[in-house]
Amino acid sequence: MTLPCKECGGQCCGPVPFPHDKVIDLMEKGVISTRYEMIPIPTGNVIVVDGEMTDTCVFYKKGKGCSIYEHRPILCKLYGESQNLPCAYLTMKKGKKK
Ligand code: SF4
Ligand code: SF4
Repeated sequence: MTLPCKECGGQCCGPVPFPHDKVIDLMEKGVISTRYEMIPIPTGNVIVVDGEMTDTCVFYKKGKGCSIYEHRPILCKLYGESQNLPCAYLTMKKGKKK
């Protein structure tokens, strides 16, 4: 499915759980800046932040979208594609058309 992510401005791109090991690996490969910090959360994941937690994912760049698209966490890959994780923006648009 092609999602209208450029049109919606990344409404689902809030702080997202990222496996700690994967963040370290991506930092070592230079994909993720080492200046970012990791806030541990339950289940062994972390939230990557730039100084402090905000409502928007640290990897979301205004006008450009996800800056680590090929390496985004599994949750981001499933969002909008899985029946259990429907895209909120598309759902809202469909609701308005009724
Ligand atoms: S998946 Fe849906 S809510 Fe998330 S950025 Fe794309 S269009 Fe927006
Ligand atoms: S990693 Fe990318 S796709 Fe996932 S929430 Fe952050 S900006 Fe959005």
